[in-house]
This record gives sequence, C-alpha cells and structure tokens, in this order.
Amino acid sequence: MKKIDLGKLVRPSVCGLRAYSAKEIPCKVKLDANESPYAYDSRKIAKLAAAIRTNRYPDPESRELRKAAGKRFGVSSENILQGNGSDELIYYLIAAFSGPVLFPVPTFSMYGIISRALGETDIAVPLDGEFDIDLERTLRVVKKEKPKLIFLSSPNNPTGNCFSSERILKIIETSKGIIVVDEAYQPFSSEKGFLPLLKDYPNLVIMRTLSKIGLAALRVGFLIADPQIIREVNKVRLPFNVNSFSQAIATAALKDRGLDSAIRNIVSERNRLFLAMAKIDGIKPYPSEANFVLFEVKDPVATYNALLKKGVLVRNLADSMKGCLRVTVGTPEENTVFLKALKECAI
Ligand SMILES: *Cc1c(COP(=O)(O)O)cnc(C)c1O
Repeated sequence: MKKIDLGKLVRPSVCGLRAYSAKEIPCKVKLDANESPYAYDSRKIAKLAAAIRTNRYPDPESRELRKAAGKRFGVSSENILQGNGSDELIYYLIAAFSGPVLFPVPTFSMYGIISRALGETDIAVPLDGEFDIDLERTLRVVKKEKPKLIFLSSPNNPTGNCFSSERILKIIETSKGIIVVDEAYQPFSSEKGFLPLLKDYPNLVIMRTLSKIGLAALRVGFLIADPQIIREVNKVRLPFNVNSFSQAIATAALKDRGLDSAIRNIVSERNRLFLAMAKIDGIKPYPSEANFVLFEVKDPVATYNALLKKGVLVRNLADSMKGCLRVTVGTPEENTVFLKALKECAI
C-alpha cells in the first residue's frame, strides 16, 4: 500500500496536540461537568420536535432563536451571534481576530486549546492569591504583547468567583484588542455582569451559553457585542451551525419561566452546600458565584476515588489546581448524598 507521511501534511500546530478526551465515568450522582440537574420538559420537546421537517436545512441565521435571546439579554438581534455551544464561538473569535490570545489561569481550558489548534500564541497570566486578575502583571503583558483577544471567564471556572469589575474595566480601557467576558455562569451570580456596559465599549464582547442552565445537550451559545464585531465574526461562521432541533427547543426554553426557577433552586442549593462543606473537618470550600463549588482537601486523589466508590463523581483538578476538587450543584437529594459521602471520606 502507498505510504503517506502525515507528519509532513498535518499543520505543525496540530501535530503536537492531543484530542480532547471527556471520559464517561459511570456513577449514580454526576456532579463533574457543571451541568444543570434539571432537564427541559420532555413533552414540550416532543411537540417541538414533531413540527420539524428533517429534509430541510435549518434557518442559517437562527432568527427566532436570536430574537428570543435578544429579548432575554435586553439587546437587539443584530447584537447577537449564535454558536454551536460557546466553544464554537471561541473558535470563531480566534479564527476571525487571530492571536496572541491572553487569559488568566487557572480558567476554562478551551481558550488555550483552541488557540493552539489554530496555531495562535496563547499567553496565560496567573491569577493573584485571591483568584482575582493580577492587574499590574496583566496590563504589563497587554502593553508588551498586544493581544488581539483577551478571555475573562467571570464567574471564573474552576475558581467560582467573579473578577473585580474595576480590574476588568481597566483592561477594557487599556487594551486595543477585543475583551471577551465569558459569562457562562452569570445566571448564578449576584453581580450585574457586563451586559449594561456593552454600549460604552466597542471592544467588549460578552459570551453566554445555555449549557449550564439545563440545555447542554442542545449546544447553544451566544456572542453579544456591537454589530460591527458580530459582522466580522459572522464571516467565519459555518452556514448551518445550529441545527433545527436546537433552534426550536432553545427558542422555547428562553421564553420559559421554568428556566429561572431552576436557576433559583441551584443558587440556594449552592449556598447550602458551601455552608455544609465548611463545617466538615479537612474541607475548605471557596465561595462561589457559579453552579459549582471548588474545595480543597488534604488528599484530592484519595477523596475523589472514595467519593466515586460511593457513586458520586466530582471533577479532579489535579492538572490546574493542586489539592482541589470541584463539585457541581445537583438536586437537593444529590447534594445530600454528596455531603454524606464527603463527611465519611474526609479523614
Ligand atoms: C462550560 C463553559 C463553557 C462552555 O460552553 P458551551 O456553550 O457548552 O460550549 C464556556 N465557558 C466557560 C467558562 C465554561 O465553564
């Protein structure tokens, strides 16, 4: 058979990469991926799905979906770009603007992974001791390296806190690049977020997703920004990036009050979890504005395995945060199972 040297064909920036692996670990209580424990009403889904004609392409512009999202976020459809999850929008942003791409660490891993896949330079600036942006160092790097894109996840994954808005504003004012405030967890936060500031800053982009509020299966995310930015990013978007099922269900869900009551439940359970975890010897939970709680234990690997043995799956952050695990807020029953298991294995 003919031999082909793939190493000579594959883009050099791709050669050294490894495929993203999200292993499925069987468990009774799944609290590892920051999903919502509440799914959208299956009867409503069945009705919406039945109306779809599978021989036709989806609406390439997701007009109804963008209209519903615009209403929820208080902006016009022109300010919104739809993505197959916000991961895809991160891809589009980097494809449209290129690097260097700057972000504080630890944070959401996709900013770095996608930068490298596209052959762009990524610059990781460590957070300060309080998990906030190290402003002095960040501004120094911004001036020197002139990043085209800066990603700020606020509330931040996996630390759970919001970054100080004064620091974010200082970066927006100093940088000549695009600042993306990734508000994946904003629905769970007590802070206002950056939507109200959109009209003051033409280089501000806000990213939202439906994945953490009960619709992860649909893969729907949004960029919210000045129409000028939306138009540029839209040039690299694939024509039918959000499928018809996702468009229909997400549009209905965005108009549904059920979404908001689920969010309120999760916030109150998060606060209960935090207080209960703080009372367990050897456990140090960090305050959270998101739908998960980061916590420090003496032996994270042993604790992770002991929890899994009791059927509870959490996220092991060994790679990014020494000594830490992350637990997603589940239903009240799931959280109670987790707390009981944690008490038994935190020795
Ligand atoms: C989960 C997460 C996302 C992913 O969103 P999708 O819409 O599911 O692609 C984006 N940003 C942060 C910070 C996240 O934690």
